[in-house]
Amino acid sequence: MGILVPDMTRIAWWFRWLQPARFLEAMPAGRSEGAQCEPALDDARPVRFGLRARLGELAQTWLLLDLVRGLALTGRHLFSRKVTIQYPEERTPQSPRFRGLHALRRYPSGEERCIGCQLCEAVCPALAITIETEPRASDGTRRTTRYDIDMFKCIYCGFCEEACPTDAIVMTRSFEFHMQTRFEAVYTKQMLLAVGDAYEAEIAADRARDAPYR
Ligand code: SF4
Ligand code: SF4
Repeated sequence: MGILVPDMTRIAWWFRWLQPARFLEAMPAGRSEGAQCEPALDDARPVRFGLRARLGELAQTWLLLDLVRGLALTGRHLFSRKVTIQYPEERTPQSPRFRGLHALRRYPSGEERCIGCQLCEAVCPALAITIETEPRASDGTRRTTRYDIDMFKCIYCGFCEEACPTDAIVMTRSFEFHMQTRFEAVYTKQMLLAVGDAYEAEIAADRARDAPYR
């Protein structure tokens, strides 16, 4: 019995391997046998049944055709144009409409552009902007006393800069900023004005390039 067991196992394996093939050959076209006959989601090749199909699959396995196809695909891309960017030494081109870190701008005189109309706060879908205003003592014009943007809430949709009547709140091309605590994610008015001062030349050039399309 000890000698027969491996032989019986092998015979049973061949029987199981061949029997469904015969059965499926007799099946009417279009019939499937449960989940076994459903094509795999990641395999677009049609499912074929029958002894010939089984032999084809066996030949494909033994001749390593999938491996050869994979190597051919790798070889094709070996000499094609490379698309990998060596960041941060290399950068992808950026649109003048890139929506990165926010900034509050000033006029060339140094006066804040923001007039505290709160349109940006009203339009923000993420409720990321918090504004408080009061009349300025010197001339009675309304100005913000608080302008916070919570960068964790912000979804960088750009609605705030679209809504702003004075081009005060804008989105810069800067995307390399980070924070380590929850509180650092809230950019205050002074922080946003500092970003605006740092990026004003780039912001002005981008707005000028985009002006014909607005
Ligand atoms: S970019 Fe969108 S989500 Fe972010 S502050 Fe502006 S309006 Fe709100
Ligand atoms: S940033 Fe623009 S939209 Fe927002 S309060 Fe100031 S002026 Fe109004």
